Amino acid sequence: MATSCVMPFAFKGHQIVPKEQATVSLASHSLQYGSTCFAGIRGYVRERNVRIFRLRDHHERLMNASKIMGFGFHISYEDFEQIIAQLIEANRPESDFYIRPFLYSENEVIGVCYNGLTFDLGVYMIPLKSYYQSDKGLRLTISSWQKISDAAMSTKAKAGGCYVNSSMATTDARAAGYDEALMMDHNQNIVEASVANLFIAYRGEIFTPPVGSDVLEGITMRTVIELLENRGYKIRYEPISRSMIYTCDELFLTGTAAGVIFADSVDGRIIGSGKEGPIARTVRQEFQSVIEMEHPKSKGWVSEFSISEVCHEACSYI
Ligand code: PMP
Repeated sequence: MATSCVMPFAFKGHQIVPKEQATVSLASHSLQYGSTCFAGIRGYVRERNVRIFRLRDHHERLMNASKIMGFGFHISYEDFEQIIAQLIEANRPESDFYIRPFLYSENEVIGVCYNGLTFDLGVYMIPLKSYYQSDKGLRLTISSWQKISDAAMSTKAKAGGCYVNSSMATTDARAAGYDEALMMDHNQNIVEASVANLFIAYRGEIFTPPVGSDVLEGITMRTVIELLENRGYKIRYEPISRSMIYTCDELFLTGTAAGVIFADSVDGRIIGSGKEGPIARTVRQEFQSVIEMEHPKSKGWVSEFSISEVCHEACSYI
């Protein structure tokens, strides 16, 4: 989890401002009612370049989220990319970081509907190396909190309010000594972790829950599926039961913050050998080679931004 300091500049009110000025009223609708949608994007710093993974897909998911929620906000990809570029220039990150764009409403309104509210884009950045503390594999538990259903609240929109559900599951998991919680849907199938998608190797095949189930359609998940399919694996999109989880040969999670990370146990049951399995290792290494621009897919998936030597307009506050 990122506990370090937010970088000095943020985007708010259509401009780059010092983060201290990027604040909202206590009475804002988004703070009262969780009316936000957000994206989470990795920035990798390599020499004087920042690499960003699948920025266009993150923008598309955020715009789809606005559409699903009825926020009525839209920004073109070109304008979005320019804001990110300006913020990189202003903050001049020196190590890997996380970009958090989100849509929010500052309207000071009591009332639970979005009609008539104005939604805007805010963006901040925060240094982030690994999200999970564990470098040896995750200790997971199946949460007793049920994953919200797409029939109740969109699970595809990364809406702020949905993360109350994720936070409750993770809070209880951590209090019980686990690293992360797996979530069950209303059919008692395991759909994902609190902030990451799920893959298992089971009887020689790779399973992940159906896209139409209550999962967030992860950009890392889509990437991993493509990498696996290119290697000749066929993915089975099927419900995953508790017993399949306890008896699978490999279990790994994928996410922008999480990366590709294996689980060594679930509820105390050792998964496979308790070590990183061959599929998880292959996928993790291949994913890393994409970021390091060593993969045929790198060019299409990674945008590079150079941090200029000279400070110009975008960082005029410095
Ligand atoms: N599921 C949930 C609930 C998440 O919050 C995330 C993180 N965005 C993911 C899955 C993984 O998605 P992505 O690979 O796009 O980060």
